[in-house]
Amino acid sequence: RDPNVKKPGWLRQRAPQGERYLELKDSLSSLKLHTVCEEAQCPNIGECWNGGGGAGGEGDGIGTATIMLLGDTCTRGCRFCAVATSRNPAPPDPLEPENTATAIASWGVGYVVLTSVDRDDLPDGGSGHFAKTVQTLKDLKPQILVECLVSDFRGDVEAVATVATSGLDVFAHNIETVKRLQRIVRDPRAGYDQSLGVLKNAKQMQQGIVTKSSIMLGLGESDEEVTETMHDLRMVGVDILTLGQYLQPTPLHLTVKEYVTPEKFTSWKEYGEKIGFRYVASGPLVRSSYRAGEFFVESMIR
Ligand code: SF4
Ligand code: SF4
Repeated sequence: RDPNVKKPGWLRQRAPQGERYLELKDSLSSLKLHTVCEEAQCPNIGECWNGGGGAGGEGDGIGTATIMLLGDTCTRGCRFCAVATSRNPAPPDPLEPENTATAIASWGVGYVVLTSVDRDDLPDGGSGHFAKTVQTLKDLKPQILVECLVSDFRGDVEAVATVATSGLDVFAHNIETVKRLQRIVRDPRAGYDQSLGVLKNAKQMQQGIVTKSSIMLGLGESDEEVTETMHDLRMVGVDILTLGQYLQPTPLHLTVKEYVTPEKFTSWKEYGEKIGFRYVASGPLVRSSYRAGEFFVESMIR
């Protein structure tokens, strides 16, 4: 951590609680389902799984959980991310789409985010695996809402189309940071224009699809640069935006340059909704999938 930047009190983690959280946690172990929520010890787990705001995480909204496909080893090495890296990760489990879909369908959340590491080693980047999981899940439980949070597939239009036309509800891809900081923050195979292209293509390929992206703050970006990024995302039709504080996962990762105040996050939300995003979730602990189910439903009735 940068010794000049002290971690403020508003980033304290809350212990998860709430009835639905406990129910879901109980049933999880028997299903062999691995959630990012639990594995990353995400501080939002009570709120997301219960589907409601408030410190206790009580709520009657739609519960959200995030599931990781395609293994735990990434072919890239972004400087903000603590996921393990290898040039040749283990091949994907061909039964994973079926098994994961069956487990999610019997679980009890209304909104699921399917995400993965980047798999540059696979010819289709893993897009077929995502599509199969979505299709099986929608066959088993048509009412469930599905978001896929995917890589840029190196800009491969066909891979983007495979996911965008799979029957999902939300196509998410994170631009992560402003234009100037891309090379410092993300793996060199990622890029600002490539990410905008992915979001633009997804939007054009499937009528009615909702697209979503996310920016981390606190990496040294200026207000003008954040504004520019928000406008660029709107230009390619992005509907939902999330903004959260970057936190350094280990001392080997990029240091935090600034802890952005909760008030500042609120002003970004107001600004984003003024320039046309259907929904903006913005706060120190907001992550890409934070209460995604509730916010999706809210954005649809606006
Ligand atoms: Fe899970 Fe994402 Fe919510 Fe964290 S923010 S609890 S990872 S759904
Ligand atoms: Fe982490 Fe994604 Fe970058 Fe891989 S591509 S290192 S999972 S942020």
